[in-house]
Amino acid sequence: MKIVIIGSGLAGLSAGYRLCKSDEVIIFEKDPDIGGMSASYSIENEGKKYFIEKYYHHIFRSDSELLALIKELGLEKQMLWLKGKNAYFVDGKNYPMNTPVEILHFSPLSILDLAKLGMLVLRIKLIKDTAPYDRIKAKEWILDTAGKSVYENFFAPLMKSKFGDNAENVSAAWVIGRVKIRSDRGAEGEKLGYMRGGFNSLIEALAGEITANGGEIRTDREVTEIVIKDSAVQGVKVNGGFIPCDAVISTAEPAVLDAITGGKLGDLHETLKSIRYQGTACALIGLDRSLMEDGNYWLNIKADVPFGAVIEHTNFLPFDDYGENLVYVTSYFQDRKSPLWTQKDTDVIDSYLKGLEKMFPKLSRKDVRWTRLYRRMDTAPVYEQGYLEKVLPFAAGPSGLYLAGMFSSSNYPERSMNGSVKAGFQSVELLRKEKEKTGYDEK
Ligand SMILES: Cc1cc2nc3c(=O)[nH]c(=O)nc-3n(C[C@H](O)[C@H](O)[C@H](O)COP(=O)(O)OP(=O)(O)OC[C@H]3O[C@@H](n4cnc5c(N)ncnc54)[C@H](O)[C@@H]3O)c2cc1C
Repeated sequence: MKIVIIGSGLAGLSAGYRLCKSDEVIIFEKDPDIGGMSASYSIENEGKKYFIEKYYHHIFRSDSELLALIKELGLEKQMLWLKGKNAYFVDGKNYPMNTPVEILHFSPLSILDLAKLGMLVLRIKLIKDTAPYDRIKAKEWILDTAGKSVYENFFAPLMKSKFGDNAENVSAAWVIGRVKIRSDRGAEGEKLGYMRGGFNSLIEALAGEITANGGEIRTDREVTEIVIKDSAVQGVKVNGGFIPCDAVISTAEPAVLDAITGGKLGDLHETLKSIRYQGTACALIGLDRSLMEDGNYWLNIKADVPFGAVIEHTNFLPFDDYGENLVYVTSYFQDRKSPLWTQKDTDVIDSYLKGLEKMFPKLSRKDVRWTRLYRRMDTAPVYEQGYLEKVLPFAAGPSGLYLAGMFSSSNYPERSMNGSVKAGFQSVELLRKEKEKTGYDEK
């Protein structure tokens, strides 16, 4: 069978990898590089080249499909499990947040509020199924269960930095999912996973397997139409040309899928229109000195600055792997009207540096070696109240059209690399099952 995959992120590459030995695979990617959200920069520092993700990434021990894939590709030896120190910057002060004892010293909350926060975390750990919480707003649920101060001083700034103006609409299911994954730290603190050399190794290994088995990956190629006739996929239009195929796996965001199917996916059309995605403006800064001298990897922020988190990669990975200090400064934004989307790159970077100077008075612009800014509008679904009903099926309706990506059930209630790998594999399983029914021609 000839199968077209739209998008070379982890969902598309994982699907292509599973199919490339049995089928003819062509992946179309609209960007110049492969990898989607988990794509990397290649940086040269004093004659040494290294890869670093455009958006900060780490993984968890529970990311079983991703870890199994890394092992299957022979990349297991690159996996590192390291402690990344976390803190919460509130009104000019850093509060370490690594262990239960440290969290108990978070003084913006009273002892009573800390007890309420502790009870809420315990309650969340006992929740097995988050689905019933999808219809409840996180704000209302936290106010009801832990009170105003816990909401306003702890959760609200975190939710605001993640979802901006949409924070108040986010579902309790999302908060429960996040707390569950981040609260298994034990007395010593949690260990996070990273691939030495970057997740670029995984992207390259998948792409290498696909091409070694005869598959093609074509970058700078935007699919502008999925051609459907008599309720069956006929092919795709790319750069004005028609590419016939037997099946399409689309990993493009819902609004794009709606556009390239001409709004003709029946019942799915309204759902595709209603799923909101948000953007991320993430700067990566090469510095001559460490920014967070207390060794913090991840700093959440409640302060008057235009970003929600600072992530010092070289306080997590060994400095010697890079030979310079690497810091991400990042903010989510909700729509194309946001200054984080409309401003020039240099203005966004300047506003971020001004914010950093305010928070870290020792920082001087002379310390800045270089900056990069990566901005996209399609970086995550907004997990608002009622989102569960919008999770897209792996089969889209017309025969031969399959969907896998951040909008799939494996990425609910939070998207991840693991969720997209799993979605890619699940779409292939379904494709094979359906094609077996009608007689399946391998290549
Ligand atoms: C800031 C940020 C931080 C993150 N941190 C983590 C983390 O720490 N750990 C973790 O596990 N996950 C993290 N993630 C999430 C993770 O990166 C994503 O869930 C995953 O990479 C998504 O893969 P995907 O293939 O589903 O989608 P994408 O990576 O979005 O791939 C879709 C691809 O389709 C292409 N495309 C779209 N339309 C077309 C078209 N018409 N024609 C051709 N190509 C098209 C796009 O350009 C894109 O490359 C993070 C994401 C962001 C944005």
